[in-house]
Parts: sequence; structure tokens; C-alpha cells
Amino acid sequence: MVLNSVHWFRKGLRLHDNPALQGALSGADTVRCVYILDPWFAGSSNIRINRWRIIEVNGNKTPLTYKRFQTIIKRLELPKAPVNTVTLDQMEKCTRYIQENHDEKYGIPSLEELGFDTSELGPAVWQGGETEALARLCKHLERKASVANNAMPKLNADSLLSNATGLSPYLRFGCLSCRTFYYTLLQLYRMIKKHSNPPLSLYGQLLWREFFYTAATSNPNFDRMEGNPICIQIPWDTNQQALTKWADGQTGFPWIDAIMKQLRQEGWIHHLARHAVACFLTRGDLWISWEEGMKVFDEMLLDADFSVNAGSWMWLSCSALFQQFCHFYCPVGFGKRTDPNGDYVRRYLSVLQGYPAEYIYEPWNAPIEVQKAAKCIVGIHYPRPMINHVETSRLNIERMKQIYQQLSHNKGLCLLPAAPCCAADHRSSAAKSVEHGNRAGFISPKRVETVGIMGKRDKPEDTEIEDECRQAKIPCLQSPVGDGRNKQKLMLSDLSHHF
Ligand SMILES: Cc1cc2nc3c(=O)[nH]c(=O)nc-3n(C[C@H](O)[C@H](O)[C@H](O)COP(=O)(O)OP(=O)(O)OC[C@H]3O[C@@H](n4cnc5c(N)ncnc54)[C@H](O)[C@@H]3O)c2cc1C
Repeated sequence: MVLNSVHWFRKGLRLHDNPALQGALSGADTVRCVYILDPWFAGSSNIRINRWRIIEVNGNKTPLTYKRFQTIIKRLELPKAPVNTVTLDQMEKCTRYIQENHDEKYGIPSLEELGFDTSELGPAVWQGGETEALARLCKHLERKASVANNAMPKLNADSLLSNATGLSPYLRFGCLSCRTFYYTLLQLYRMIKKHSNPPLSLYGQLLWREFFYTAATSNPNFDRMEGNPICIQIPWDTNQQALTKWADGQTGFPWIDAIMKQLRQEGWIHHLARHAVACFLTRGDLWISWEEGMKVFDEMLLDADFSVNAGSWMWLSCSALFQQFCHFYCPVGFGKRTDPNGDYVRRYLSVLQGYPAEYIYEPWNAPIEVQKAAKCIVGIHYPRPMINHVETSRLNIERMKQIYQQLSHNKGLCLLPAAPCCAADHRSSAAKSVEHGNRAGFISPKRVETVGIMGKRDKPEDTEIEDECRQAKIPCLQSPVGDGRNKQKLMLSDLSHHF
């Protein structure tokens, strides 16, 4: 009897560690490989047995902290080892001739055929496919080995660029098996015999991915605020114009705009760059819902992944999983510290090419002669800042604080006993960089009044107030349910590896 089989490639676009493809080839006379170009195939409902096991071991509840997640996976056996890579020999045995017009009928359509305008498209920065994924994995491991004995490498201008070791798009499309990734890391980890627990360990990041996948399980509303049991209900503003400016990199803050341009052009941005723009859109400045940001990321990221994207946006906007509403990113100071010379900004915002480092992050403060010499007048060639960052972020901290106070009040808890005044620290670079866009008048006088009640301590570095908050021990809720007080320490240490 002739055995014909069909293998449907969905997310696992690879020959290594592909048990289903191995199954299809086994004993078959012919194998037909099918891939359906479906623009929407992500979702959290399709989860494998390992994630169900995690939930089962956690008393049939989804673990909602990374710490808890780690505790549970320590109790589980290791995932099964990757299966053997499919070989040419195996494939040749079940080859079948295809019709002459096969490619014409079933080949990969061009971008134009799919309806994209490619006139302004630059060369692709990311090369697709499994071969590239495996080569990157090797480089990734070399890099990991070299940094293994040191702390996490510091963020700098170079790390902001797409690099030869980035893996997320390959994991997302299954060109790289996460089991293969995990086991090769484990091997490396054993070789260098260094003991540290995730998240500082080498595979901590991979576990974050699994954590988000698990957190999304059995929650059909994981990607929205309403009806999502783990998400705080926050009265976000609706402002389509502001959202568009953010998405198009037209906010008037070069640091934010450069990141959004990189995202649009290349489909990838660094993890902390994601933090910067996500914070700016949501609780930091524009007070626009994380759902909107998530949709823009979903459209533009090569690694766009339902669970990781939604989970990260909820996290960054202090809506779920971790709430640290006092950890802020200044759209001026963060860039300055990361890349003092401003090369990253010049790379993605050619209009600011002529600006000296001194003004590159706040061109509106440059004297008009400097603007003229740089051939870029703010308000004509490059937008004025769309918002007064200093005032607005202070106001937003206050709003967030009130939401949490209300929440803790409703729960009969006292989660913000001392209500440390995070916003007070927001003054510093305020003073220096003047108003960060006062002119835009984005916030109403009533809101500014609220800000007025905040303290007025000056501090030279106003930008991120994380340290202050750590010292003040601002409690962080874990989810709307339960007393977050005991979780506080865990939450802060959980987060620390990212900063
Ligand atoms: C607002 C926001 C949205 C995000 N959306 C996505 C998304 O849609 N898809 C996505 O893959 N990642 C997302 N991330 C997580 C993270 O930014 C990327 O995974 C990382 O930047 C990918 O770069 P890399 O491959 O060089 O990662 P590396 O640092 O080399 O890490 C290796 C792999 O571990 C996983 N990983 C690393 N960090 C995280 C993390 N914090 N959470 C989950 N998995 C992680 C990724 O699969 C990554 O490829 C998001 C982060 C934020 C703040």
C-alpha cells in the first residue's frame, strides 16, 4: 500500500526538532508540504501539554508571577529533548514530481501581489529562514558565553540596532525551536558551570517567553482590558491624533521618534526601546491604552507574538502582572544616557543629522542659529514636542496612584500606606530641558492642578525614578486579586534584570 502524507507547516518553519514533520516522513512514499499564508494565526488557545502541566501543578490556576512560574517549573521534569533533524536522505525517499505550473499556482506571492506599497522599502535587515536562525543561535551562544561571567551587558547605542544575534523573529515563526534553544543554552550553562538563578541566568529570557504564554492560557481576553480578569481597568484617554503621531514617529521627542522609525523600517527594536515607547504612550505621557500600542506593535514587529506582546504591554502600562507605576522613562534623559552622542537618533531621523549632541534629544531648546545651521527648524522641519513631559508625567503618576489607592481601598487593603511621592523627582531635567513641549498644551488645566499638589523637591537626575521608588518601597500589586504586600519584594527583584 502506498502511504501519502501531508505536512502542514504552521509555526514550525524548520527541519530541526520538528516531530510532526518526522512523523509525516516516517514510512511515507510521498509527502506534500503545505504552508498557508494566513495573516492571522496567532492565538493563545493552542497550547501544548507542558503549559497545561504548569497550570495543573499550580492547583489548576495560571501562575501570575514569574517567581511562582519558576517555582513550578523547578518541580517539573525538563522538556523532552529535541528530535533529530530531518535529513535529505529522508526527504528524497518520498519526493514526488510536481506540476510545471506548481510555483505559479502555489508559489510565494510577492509583496506587491499581497497589496503592499514597496516603493519606499529599504533592504531587509533581517534574513528569514532556519539556516539564518541556527547561525544566529551559534553567535548568540558565543556572545552569551563571553558575557556569562559578567553582569548583563549595559545598554548602549550599538545594542539598540538590529544585531546578528537577535532571535525573537525566528522563535516567533518557529524557524528556531525553543527546545533546541533551551537545550543548547543548558549545555553551555553546564559547561561554564556558573550558578545563578533565572532571570539573571542565561535562559531567563526564554523563560519569560514561556511565562507570558502560560499567563495567557485560558484567558480569551488576554489581549484586551475589558473582560480580562488579570487586567486593571484604567480610564485611558482616547486621542487618535496623538496615537497616530506616536505610531508615525512624529511626537517631537527624537528619542521616541527614532525608535518608532526603526520599528517601522526594520520590524525590530531593543527590549528597553520597547519600554521607552510603551511607557510614553501609556502611563508615562499620552495616557493612551496599552491595547492601542499592542496593535501597532502587532502590525510592525517581526517577532509580534500574541501572548508576549499583550503580556508585555499590560506589564509596561502597569495594568497587570507587575505594577510599578513609579518606574518611568524620560523621553529625553533615557536617550541621552544610552547614546550621549545621538548617533542612533541621527541614523533614523535624518532631518536631525545636523544637530550637535548637546541638542539632539531636545532640539526645541537649541538657539535658532543652531537650528538654522542644522537646516532643521523645530516646528517647520521637525515637530515641536507634542506634550509637556514633565507636567504630564507627574500628573499621570498621580492618576495611577489614585487608581491603585482606589483599588486597594475597594479590596480593603492598604497598599499605598505612605504614598511616596514619586512624581516629585520628576522635576530635575524638567528644569534643565525647560518644558519638554509645554507649547503643545496637551493637558487640561484641571489636570495640571492635580500635579500642583505634588512635592517640589529638585533632583539633578529626574529622568527615571526607579531607585527612589525602590528605596521608598512602593508596594506593587500583583493582580487585582489578593494582597500584594507580600509580593512586593519579589516583584521588584523580578523586574531588576531588565533595567
Ligand atoms: C511592550 C513590549 C512588547 C513586546 N512584544 C514582544 C513580542 O511581540 N514578541 C516577542 O518575542 N517579544 C516581545 N517583547 C519582549 C522582548 O522585547 C523581545 O523578546 C526581545 O527584545 C527580543 O530581542 P532578542 O531576540 O535580541 O532577545 P534576547 O534578549 O536575545 O532573548 C532571547 C529570546 O528570549 C525571549 N525573550 C527575551 N526577553 C523577553 C521578554 N522580556 N519577554 C518574553 N520573551 C523574551 C525572546 O524570544 C528572545 O528572542 C516585548 C517587550 C515589550 C516591553
